[in-house]
Amino acid sequence: MENTQKSLLTGCNVCGRNHSTESCSFLQELKPVQDTKTPSRARLTLPANLEVQNLADNTTTVLARAPFTRSIQFGPFIAKRTQMLHPAEIFL
Ligand SMILES: [Zn+2]
Repeated sequence: MENTQKSLLTGCNVCGRNHSTESCSFLQELKPVQDTKTPSRARLTLPANLEVQNLADNTTTVLARAPFTRSIQFGPFIAKRTQMLHPAEIFL
């Protein structure tokens, strides 16, 4: 009974063979795949006919692709409350 428990504790958690999990050959051959970059909420929820453009000076702006009638209201607008906008803050 004690030997069985000991072998369960010392065996590999990946392949079950008699070596430590850290030295398992399956873990040595991993080929990581990077996650895709997820756009920010601001970009994902941009209303139709508005477009984010990156400018030559590395700043970002939002352009209207169609005229909007008077009294159009976008939103809901969700952002952190702040007393002052940091000058280095950029549109993400
Ligand atoms: Zn293994």
